Amino acid sequence: MDMETDFENRMVSAEYLPEDDGDNPLRPRTLGEYIGQEKVKENLSVFIDAAKMRHDALDHVLLYGPPGLGKTTLAAIIANELGVNFHITSGPALERPGDLAAMLTNMEEGDVLFIDEIHRLPRTVEEILYPAMEDFAIDIINGKGQGASSIHLPLQRFTLIGATTRAGQLSAPLRDRFGVLLRLELYTPEELAKIVSRSAHILEVPCDEDGALEIASRSRGTPRIANRMLKRVRDFAQVMHGGAIDADTARVALNRMEVDELGLDRIDRRMLEAMIRHYNGGPVGLDTVAAVIGEEAVTIEDVYEPYLMQMGFLSRTPRGRVVLPAAYEHLGLPVPGQPEKKESYPEQTSFL
Ligand code: ADP
Repeated sequence: MDMETDFENRMVSAEYLPEDDGDNPLRPRTLGEYIGQEKVKENLSVFIDAAKMRHDALDHVLLYGPPGLGKTTLAAIIANELGVNFHITSGPALERPGDLAAMLTNMEEGDVLFIDEIHRLPRTVEEILYPAMEDFAIDIINGKGQGASSIHLPLQRFTLIGATTRAGQLSAPLRDRFGVLLRLELYTPEELAKIVSRSAHILEVPCDEDGALEIASRSRGTPRIANRMLKRVRDFAQVMHGGAIDADTARVALNRMEVDELGLDRIDRRMLEAMIRHYNGGPVGLDTVAAVIGEEAVTIEDVYEPYLMQMGFLSRTPRGRVVLPAAYEHLGLPVPGQPEKKESYPEQTSFL
């Protein structure tokens, strides 16, 4: 991968990057501060209130949706609203059953255990999670072979919050043990503009409403990207505009980063163009798309496609991916089956 692609890829990547490390002050701490996801918040506040009234642990919660939408943030908020401790780990970090057992036995009554990327739990670890979730107990095997004995260990009641990019990646027995399944959606530009304004305020960067909306419109519906863009635009603004962010500074800065006005970067464009030029716009199989642009299939599915589908640029069909007319128009390419130089349809290039 060349330097430029790497740079650009990082800008709009929804995955967590080292440069996002300073984001802690930007994380909302309460449901009230958490912007958007209204349906999810409504449901959660009912469940949280009910659990508090019953003095019981909240049912296990599965949060699913593309990376960077606020799953970790929401899990921490749930613990905070419940007034319990928040323990955080991830599927790949729990290598052996003992790793999970150690965490579970360390928890106090009602605590929240957050497992990010729960679909990546090793099978042996997943198996001890079942009785832990269901009966609040684990069975630990001591020794090997004939001399092995098993110890039944009761646990405090706790709430497991799992996060995954797709609920479909979970095994059925694990999925069935969650009482609450909540799907996080991509954010609207208006919601993202509120997030940008809030973050700008916390970072003490002057940013007017138009500047916030310009950043928001290019952030692929993803708060993590919006916050990252805000920080990069701030750097440009410091050099160009005395530090203040308005629509113009945001536009110039983001154009320089090759993020277009709808948030597409060079990889999105290369992917769509390759499908159009080499495969007549599809249907093209996911693995073929992956090979053509040199990205992993899961990255394409989790990071690139949700936004392109939301924009009406791409659809998933049983026979493969298909590029839609709005994408041709956005890329300035003739739409197949339509006369050239047709006026573009504004509604097809709008965000939602
Ligand atoms: P995920 O776990 O889904 O990958 P995170 O919870 O790490 O995403 O969120 C990424 C960043 O976006 C966080 O630093 C947080 O500040 C910000 N963020 C996410 N959701 C919201 C929201 N609803 N309101 C404000 N900021 C948010």
